[in-house]
Amino acid sequence: MTAATTDVEPQPTTGGLSEAVSNIDRRKTKIVCTVGPACSTPEQIRALIEAGANVFRLNFSHADHPWHTAAITTIRAAADKLQVPVAVMQDLCGPKIRLSRVVEENYTVTAGDLIRVTTERHLAADGPAISFDIASTYAALLDDVGPGDVMLFDDGRLEVCVEEHQGNVIVVRVVRGGPLSVGKGINLPGVSLSTDSVTQKDWQDLEWGIEHDVDYVALSFVRHPDDVAAVQSRLAEAGSRAQVIAKIERPEAIEHIDAIARLADGLMVARGDLGLETDLARVPVLQKHLIERCRRLCKPVITATQMLESMVHNAVPTRAEVSDVANAIYDGSDAIMLSGETAAGKHPVRAVEMLDHVARVTEADLRQNPEAQRRQIRPTSTVAAVVEGAITTAIGVGARRVVIYSQSGSTARALACHRLPMPVVALTHDAATYRQLSLSFGIEPLLLPSRIKLPKLLDDLDILVARHRWGSPGDLIIVVSALDGEDGNTDTMHIHTVR
Ligand code: PGA
Ligand code: MN
Repeated sequence: MTAATTDVEPQPTTGGLSEAVSNIDRRKTKIVCTVGPACSTPEQIRALIEAGANVFRLNFSHADHPWHTAAITTIRAAADKLQVPVAVMQDLCGPKIRLSRVVEENYTVTAGDLIRVTTERHLAADGPAISFDIASTYAALLDDVGPGDVMLFDDGRLEVCVEEHQGNVIVVRVVRGGPLSVGKGINLPGVSLSTDSVTQKDWQDLEWGIEHDVDYVALSFVRHPDDVAAVQSRLAEAGSRAQVIAKIERPEAIEHIDAIARLADGLMVARGDLGLETDLARVPVLQKHLIERCRRLCKPVITATQMLESMVHNAVPTRAEVSDVANAIYDGSDAIMLSGETAAGKHPVRAVEMLDHVARVTEADLRQNPEAQRRQIRPTSTVAAVVEGAITTAIGVGARRVVIYSQSGSTARALACHRLPMPVVALTHDAATYRQLSLSFGIEPLLLPSRIKLPKLLDDLDILVARHRWGSPGDLIIVVSALDGEDGNTDTMHIHTVR
């Protein structure tokens, strides 16, 4: 059979990055890069993809729709040109509270100071009549906080304690002082917010995401499974395939984690706000528990924030950061996220290269004991039983590679949670699945032009193996697919000897 007649002929790959790297073992841990002023040109995006970026996060806390439209256009064009799977994640900012005004430039407060806090809503209503020092974007601030509540500013650098309400202001006493400026974030640990978790702005931003066909929608400050369900139902109604990632950063989300994790398509351990909204010392504990929960559910989990924070300024990370990245991989993260490091840092590409290098070294150690990486998931469905058999076989016979055919991506995710030591290729003819699987640990998506039944796939497998250098004659390749090639029908595990 000639390559020209095969149904498994993938999209042309001549000269693309995929050809260049297909014969070396790829990194399994995925890298999420936040887009910002430091990485928005086509050259910068291309450089990040070449360094190993798998997913780009568009942070809707910043920038306007035209900016994000330009960014997603640049990312899609670069991925097309390089012929690599790249996903775009829209991050909705949720009820993120910020400082909207300070009384004077270079405003600095000191421990013990009493200051008056109001809101934009009160200023809009009563304007000049209010005597205040700082104002917040959050309309219900004065209703939600009471005497004794703590307010944190600028990622917790400053702390104040609420003393009393005085008409249109609250008077707070500074516990830990410092400079305050417009735009800095405010956290209210332990305060239950009366606002919705998905704000009016989020709903408008979500329409942008639907229109621009984003692959993931991340929800900030999720508190209840209903928050996830509401966004999912709008996506379904609009015919969007976007998957929903719940960012775990509020104590209420921890309380409802069972239902949230079941409903969401994946979780983010959002350590930045999580460390402010809950006890900072519990962040590593929660990280381990959230990651393990996702693995048992076969859903992707992202560990985020300050992974290589010092590289915002420095060309080399600290030992603590390198250890943190490695430990997040040992914990079982699918992906590691970079925030300021790529969005606004001095060394975006170096940060990705460093993450790539640490991941490869850590994964080489994990490969030493593949059984320890497996998860005992009771195979109560056909898919789970086939996957279970494939994993046992792949490790047992020392397969060179696992090749699966996945339409919705669920079979690929069912494999990903076991962190197999060998590469796992996910063939799919669905472009959305192709991009979405770039978030899952160890999955190498490959786009096929059309649906394929198992007998045909097996006929053509040696052609694919030769073209992509997936193995040499005599190597064993485990194939997982539906005999009829239909979605949801995964029922067969086949051991193929490369000829
Ligand atoms: P953010 O989310 O960067 O959008 O705030 C991540 C986090 O809080 O850790
Ligand atoms: Mn956050």
